[in-house]
Amino acid sequence: MYKAIIFDLDGTLYDKSGLARRLVLSQLRKGGLGMLKQERSIRKELRGCHFESEEAFYEAFFARFSRPELARRWYFETYMPDMVRLLRRHYRTAPWVETVIAEWRTHGRKVVVFSDYGCVREKLQAIGFNLDWGDALFEAPALGGLKPCKESFEKICREIDVQPSECLMVGDRQDTDGDGARSVGMAFEYVAKAGKPNLKPYLEK
Ligand SMILES: [Mg+2]
Repeated sequence: MYKAIIFDLDGTLYDKSGLARRLVLSQLRKGGLGMLKQERSIRKELRGCHFESEEAFYEAFFARFSRPELARRWYFETYMPDMVRLLRRHYRTAPWVETVIAEWRTHGRKVVVFSDYGCVREKLQAIGFNLDWGDALFEAPALGGLKPCKESFEKICREIDVQPSECLMVGDRQDTDGDGARSVGMAFEYVAKAGKPNLKPYLEK
């Protein structure tokens, strides 16, 4: 039986179409385009790598920028707040989210959100996601590794006290959400552009 569902955030709980372009335009205005380009390539480089702690992850992450201290300030004081602001202005939780979560919960199962970025609470609130809908929220950096890091998926299962085989991961990327779930023997349901996932087969099990 499935005891928990784990939702990816970006592109899964809301349709993120246009977000990458908006972030580029916004950073262009703020002089952060160089940082943004570096950030995107560093995220790719560190994808799936495991670190002992959130501090160790961020240390390795910012050390790869040409100017690590400036990058750290840009990331937390400009980039993340900017992303939250853009979400609040242009994006909303997909229409199916509230009812699907309610249905899943009537069966006494847990609901988890697992984002590859930080600021997961702020981002969820920005798109109108009621934080009460989730039993637990996780950010990949705080777990020590970006998706599809196997250890991050294992840590979530330990924290919510559910076996990987009893969890369903729902996400919009096979190479991060899908590969991470499969690496620990977790079921995976793919969705495109925050489309409604078909959870019926999992609710019946
Ligand atoms: Mg996603």
